[in-house]
Amino acid sequence: MSELRCDPLLKRWVLIAPGRESRPDDFAVAITNGQPDHPCPFCEGNESLTGPEVLVRRSTNSTANGPGWDIRVVPNRYPAVAPEPASQIWGATAGFSESGWGRHEVIVETPRHLPLTATHAPEHWHRLFEVFQQRLMDFRTVAGLQHAIVFKNHGPAAGASLMHPHCQVIALPRVPDAVTAELQAGEQRWHQAGKCPRCELLDAEIEAGTRLVATAPEVVAWCPPASRFPYETWLLPRQHSSHFESADPGVLAELARQLSGILTRLEQVVPGLSYNLVLQTAPLHAPALAGFHWRLEILPRLTGMAGFEWGSGWFINPVAPERAARELRCNDRLGEGG
Ligand SMILES: [Zn+2]
Ligand SMILES: [Zn+2]
Repeated sequence: MSELRCDPLLKRWVLIAPGRESRPDDFAVAITNGQPDHPCPFCEGNESLTGPEVLVRRSTNSTANGPGWDIRVVPNRYPAVAPEPASQIWGATAGFSESGWGRHEVIVETPRHLPLTATHAPEHWHRLFEVFQQRLMDFRTVAGLQHAIVFKNHGPAAGASLMHPHCQVIALPRVPDAVTAELQAGEQRWHQAGKCPRCELLDAEIEAGTRLVATAPEVVAWCPPASRFPYETWLLPRQHSSHFESADPGVLAELARQLSGILTRLEQVVPGLSYNLVLQTAPLHAPALAGFHWRLEILPRLTGMAGFEWGSGWFINPVAPERAARELRCNDRLGEGG
């Protein structure tokens, strides 16, 4: 049974998820053959190997939980959270622990078992973003769910245990510490300056230009000044907005265009790259927030969390974001150093 447990001194929460011990790990095979040696549960035709679909985009003449789909959302077979709150939890009365319940779903991005080097066309990313929005809207209707993280683990170094392209979403009964800290800092800054701190930063970055990767009236992509990872890239809406689920089709289309281009470029710059995608959006039931700005983060996994990082909480990034942005801008020459 999953539990959320808190270090009472550090106020740092962890999700203890014993059910995750038996996850599949087909990577040794996947990397050598390009195909897993057992039937892939996410390939078209193998729908019976997953739980029933909770959301799907399928052709009108196909039947539920059979072939004929292009995006399919199913429950994770190895969920990090329990489906319902548990009644008895160790340490709950002292406030150190609570039930680790919620939703953990897999968003199967495509019926095809694409290689790791492939990325989707912008139109397909756009459809995936619409599915993300729908999941967030649906989670709002589940009493007790507070926050959802949509993410993608791409490649073995990013923690992917199945190589068929898929994203995941975990919805939780508690807003994670890092999100709470950002909400509070953003609100504080908004009260001081009358402006969202990310909007301020965006204006400054557009003026400076040195860390920009792509710009459009709808979306800006840049390597943040304090990038934790080499080639870390954030994509933000140009117009202030706290909730991804309220982004309009024009923003989603441009977000998709930029994401597809940057992932293609990253694969050229660092072939075989593993990365995480993380959608940072406001809590499910928060009103529109003036101090919080949603974003999509691309977090390449070229460097690990080693002793220094665990000891300090600080990351060592050997690639300056200015250089990373220069290499990721599609028209620039590679390898200029700097
Ligand atoms: Zn597959
Ligand atoms: Zn903003």
